[in-house]
Order: sequence, then structure tokens, then C-alpha cells
Amino acid sequence: MTEFEQGSVWLVGAGPGDPDLLTRKAERLLREASIVFFDALVGQGVLDLIPRDTRRVAVGKRSGRHSKDQKTIDALIVEAALAGERVVRLKGGDPTIFARAAEEMLACRVHGIPVRICPGITAASAAAADLGISLTLRGMARKLVFVTAHSRAGEALDLDWAGLADPQATLAIYMGKAAAKEVSARLIAAGMPGDTPVTLVENASLPQGRSLSTRLDLLPLAAGTGLGDGPALILVGQAVAGSREIGSRMPAEAGLVPAAL
Ligand code: SAH
Repeated sequence: MTEFEQGSVWLVGAGPGDPDLLTRKAERLLREASIVFFDALVGQGVLDLIPRDTRRVAVGKRSGRHSKDQKTIDALIVEAALAGERVVRLKGGDPTIFARAAEEMLACRVHGIPVRICPGITAASAAAADLGISLTLRGMARKLVFVTAHSRAGEALDLDWAGLADPQATLAIYMGKAAAKEVSARLIAAGMPGDTPVTLVENASLPQGRSLSTRLDLLPLAAGTGLGDGPALILVGQAVAGSREIGSRMPAEAGLVPAAL
């Protein structure tokens, strides 16, 4: 077992929300930490595992509502470690996927602070589990792409659309809800068929989780009307064709659910 020394930092994956999906190592690190900096996406059930007398600091970021900028977060972590704390930086999902881990590790290393990673279950894995599907399919979906469709306010998405529009790929699009219209239009323009299966999954792994199955050309409609304001993942490709619906969804007569599904 790796020691959790004073003055060191662990970037810990909190998983998608369900505390049962936390690794045993993450749970141990949360018990041993003297201070925990956590994101907005960390589930309440996971936060409840932090001992009551451990200091916890919300550094939450939800798109459009940045409560602390990245440099401030880096500085807080460094300051706590230099003061001799055992620092956990708790992040939703896996800390190495769309979670600014590189910046935080660099900030630590510049100050000679030991920093290590405890992996977590990423949203795409949790969504597949909820839907009862495989993200890869022998001979049909040979490639799994984790991509973020988050762009700076007012800027167009700068993605390799031709590369993404691969009929043999499963796309797991993180932070994509706001950009759903652009994603749909650009993938279709790059040659992906409009009837490619798409499933949106909101709050994967949580009791309030829900999903919506649609097709690429109808994605903007589905993203705009079918979900709440929880974190949502967009899965695209043949692998999601047989998605099991979870939670409430838009009625089929709204035209969002193709008859074949
Ligand atoms: N490090 C995280 C991703 C952070 S980016 C991970 O590995 O999962 C934040 C995005 O992740 C959200 O906008 C959403 O697209 C996705 N996400 C995180 N938790 C989710 C959940 N429980 N259900 C669906 N999507 C989720």
C-alpha cells in the first residue's frame, strides 16, 4: 500500500457519482487525507465518506459558473501541501480525463511536492453500464474516442470532424450538451449518416439518472428538450443502438425515439 505522506498530493477519481463505484484505494485516501479539495461533479454519496473532522474545500466548476479559476485551485493545493497537509484533490470520474490534471501536477512538481494519481471510473464506463451496452463491438465499433465538445464562450469547436465521423467508432462526447447542434451538423457534414444511433445519458450511475435514445440528425432536439441540467454524456455510434432506456424520457411521439429502438 502506498503511503500518504504529509506534504504530498493525491489526485483521486471520485467516479461518476455512485459511492459504490469508488475504488477501495480512493476510499482509503479520503480517510487518510487532512484536507480534500473537491469539484462540483463529485457525488454527495462520495463526499459523505470523508471523515467529519477532515477539512473540505469546494473548488467546484460547472460550465459557465466557474467559482475558482484553475490557477487559484493550483495555488490552494500547493499551499496546503507546503503547509504539511495530506492533500486529496477529488475529481469526478477519472482524474486524467478532461479534468485539468496536468496543470495541477505541474504546479505540484514545480514546488517539489510529490503528486500521485488514483484512477476512477469515467462517465463513459458508467453510462455504458447503465445502458447495458458494450462501448466496443467486434468488427463494428473498433475504436472508442473520448472527446470533449466544450469550447470557450463564443468560439467554434476546433475538432477533427473528418476523423470523428468514423462509422466504426464509438464517440463518448463529454461536456457536449451545449454544443449538440454543432456536433450533429459537423459530423453529418463530415459524412456520418444522419440515422447514426445516439444516446444521451444524464447523471449516469445515480438514482436520478436518465437517458434518451435518438439519432444524430435529431440530437439537437433531444439535447435541448429531453434532459435536465445534470452532467450529460453523448454517446454516438452503432454500439449504442440497443441502449436500454433508463429513468424517464421524452415520449416516443415527440419523435425523438426512432421506431427501431
Ligand atoms: N473526469 C470526468 C469528466 C469531467 S468533464 C470523468 O472521467 O468522467 C465533465 C463532463 O463529464 C460532464 O459535462 C459530462 O459530460 C461528463 N459526466 C461526468 N459525470 C457524469 C455522469 N454522472 N453522467 C453523465 N455524464 C457525466
